[in-house]
Amino acid sequence: MAMKALDIYKHLPKTNCKKCGYPTCLAFAMKLATGKAEIEACPDLDPETKTLLGGVTRPPVRLVQVGVGERSVPVGEEFVLFRHEKTFYHPPGIMVQVSDAWPEEKVRFVVEEVRDTVVQRVGQDLVLNGIAVRNESGLPDRFAATVTLAGGGSSLPLVLIADNPASFEAALAVAGNYRPLIHAATEENWEELAALAKRYGCPLTVRTPNLPNLAALAGKCADAGAPDLLLDPVPQSLSGFIATATEIRRAAIGRTEPGLGYPIYLDTVPLNETDAALAAGILKYAGIIVAPPLAHASREAALTLRQNIYTDPQKPIQVTPGIYPINDPGPSAPILLTVNFSLTYFTLLGYLEASGIPSYLFIADTEGLSVLTAVAGGKLTETLVAESLKEFNVGDLVDHRLLVIPGYAAPLSGKIEDATGWKVLVGPRDGADLPGYLEAEWKT
Ligand code: SF4
Repeated sequence: MAMKALDIYKHLPKTNCKKCGYPTCLAFAMKLATGKAEIEACPDLDPETKTLLGGVTRPPVRLVQVGVGERSVPVGEEFVLFRHEKTFYHPPGIMVQVSDAWPEEKVRFVVEEVRDTVVQRVGQDLVLNGIAVRNESGLPDRFAATVTLAGGGSSLPLVLIADNPASFEAALAVAGNYRPLIHAATEENWEELAALAKRYGCPLTVRTPNLPNLAALAGKCADAGAPDLLLDPVPQSLSGFIATATEIRRAAIGRTEPGLGYPIYLDTVPLNETDAALAAGILKYAGIIVAPPLAHASREAALTLRQNIYTDPQKPIQVTPGIYPINDPGPSAPILLTVNFSLTYFTLLGYLEASGIPSYLFIADTEGLSVLTAVAGGKLTETLVAESLKEFNVGDLVDHRLLVIPGYAAPLSGKIEDATGWKVLVGPRDGADLPGYLEAEWKT
């Protein structure tokens, strides 16, 4: 189990020398306890203490980076079994497969589609992460040529899937500088593949269906100089994947088996139920998910689910408070008060833009809470509205003093009028009814 900060602190030199980059030993101990610092940062520990503390303070799931540069995919470094306990930190990389047995045009099409796909949702750009190149031909030269066609790893991170070390040699000669994920080391070939991973500094997947064997194989590869590992438990079904992945994550979080403290690899292709397998991988701990080329609806569903699962449940997605003009408003346009919960903002934005009605969306800082929660929790108050009107100079934008507030904020209408001097109009509860409400009620 993880050690508490004060227990860690007892083992530190307590000189507060700051060589670790923290002002005090206690501050360092607190970072260690949450897995956010490395024990190596303190140079004044004897090797025994280092081993003791290193074992209990490193993240239970190792952080592994696939690819380099802007689009690289960091996976792992997770601390909990259930999202509501804290949060999940690193969303799984979705890698779309191409085969070296396909015609060049097909490979090119898929690569361009993955590179250019962007789904915008609640102000975030959601993207697919990379390409998994499968050596179905079995030919090293052809594998290397397809890896080159996929960009060689320079633009999109790659997974290299092959059976024979010669194919990996050929592909790594092209892409080895870009940290592709090598798939996979098995009981038979692990020595050669661990040596390749070490030589190129690449992450490596270990693959075997039995968990004790998987842990042992991971240990051998790490000892051979390939510490950045993913685990492929070779699931035969979706339910099998969920059960095995849960067992791996439980062992990692409980630190009962160091050989299972790595991110999980899921290949959805052999499972034949792409949408369900993507959902299972996203929900149940996959770090890298390989998928066939995805239809538009599948892509959107997977990216949306991943965004939802990897959003911090304690921190709602927020937009910046302020005044947002919509449809080129003039001085007679309505001022529509709302909160800075992203989903509320983008939902209203969609309805208002589609309506063509010029308006100003006036967003108060409720720390990301929705209207109903902000009113109930005392975050949306007449004082906040009055201060925000001043802060954003809302009165300078229009020639009236009418403020439309959300229907769920109706209990505040009188207080807002008293605090601001503006006349308050109570709008609908549902944003979908706002355009109709404005058509009927807005008369200035
Ligand atoms: Fe304390 Fe070690 Fe950090 Fe110095 S380097 S402040 S001794 S934890």
